[in-house]
Amino acid sequence: MSATTIPADLVRVSELDAAWQTRGAGARLDAVRRGGRKLRDRILAGGPARCVRTADLATFPYPTRYGLQGVASSPAPYLFMRNRMHVVQVDSGGRTITILVNPTDPERSAKAPYFARLEEKYGKVVRKLLATMHSTIAGTLERWGVAPASIDYVTYDHLHVQDARGLLAPGAGGRAFLPNAKLLAQRAELDTLANIHPLQAEWYIPECLAGVPADRIVALDGDYMIGGGFAIVRTPGHTIGNHSLVVVTDRGAWTISENGISVDAYAPGTSQIRGVARHARDAGVEVILNANTREQSLDQYTSMVLEKTIADPVPDRPELPQHFASSELVGHPLAPGLSPTYTHGEITYGTLAQPAVARGVA
Ligand SMILES: [Zn+2]
Repeated sequence: MSATTIPADLVRVSELDAAWQTRGAGARLDAVRRGGRKLRDRILAGGPARCVRTADLATFPYPTRYGLQGVASSPAPYLFMRNRMHVVQVDSGGRTITILVNPTDPERSAKAPYFARLEEKYGKVVRKLLATMHSTIAGTLERWGVAPASIDYVTYDHLHVQDARGLLAPGAGGRAFLPNAKLLAQRAELDTLANIHPLQAEWYIPECLAGVPADRIVALDGDYMIGGGFAIVRTPGHTIGNHSLVVVTDRGAWTISENGISVDAYAPGTSQIRGVARHARDAGVEVILNANTREQSLDQYTSMVLEKTIADPVPDRPELPQHFASSELVGHPLAPGLSPTYTHGEITYGTLAQPAVARGVA
């Protein structure tokens, strides 16, 4: 899979480069924490984004033992998470840049080996009962008045269960649904996809970028800022090529990823989910991993600490960070005792601009 050059909108920032090279996992954690404070200052100095909107896409079951690393003491085998998508607009050099964050297509995600097996085990009807669709990507953009041609970039925090063909591969008319958008992914994530290891296979859709032109895929190496108020920060561990999105609003910095599934994972000492706070206390840990693959668990822990370092606290709950789980734990009748202690639900800020689509169609 080849990829195109880095667009000029992306500014490479190096505050964490040396930190991630630090030998020894404990020393690396300390170095990333220190570098994270510098990167946070730099991102905040750019001011807020122009606008952020959030849409619920789908609610789906997920093994409890993965979601909360096996430390929740609920007997329910599945907890429930809700996929959410964001549109972020930032200003850069007098131009508005529009970024679509985590546009998961639930129908295509259902083809990921893990979900396909669930369907095989329980049947399509049960899957449809367990999973709830809230809105579609196209329907949401239309509701917001965002023209698909105005989307400049698409990014996912990682590519588990994602399939971008419906957005970026040319359709029957030779035109992609998002005709001007480029995918921003870490090179390490694209490398994973190019040759998937058996222990990674359950969560990836191998052909998820098939037919997407090479000039629509941007391979990133590290951390980048886009305009004022948006950044892509590598957070390896959950997957080797994982990254987190940082968006700044009037409430300060937010981080977005799936490294942890709710604030319970980022402030486990305050969690009301049985077993979580006790585990954090007994084990002396400050985060609980989303542990379905554990590609690099020590770095995933460090990445979550980095997210906590960059994110501002929730204004009226200062013990909780503004980390927004892209698939956030939600309460569900089939998952007793597994409701989140606190839910962010959405990030809403600013007014949507209607940028002129100057480049026309692709
Ligand atoms: Zn994942």
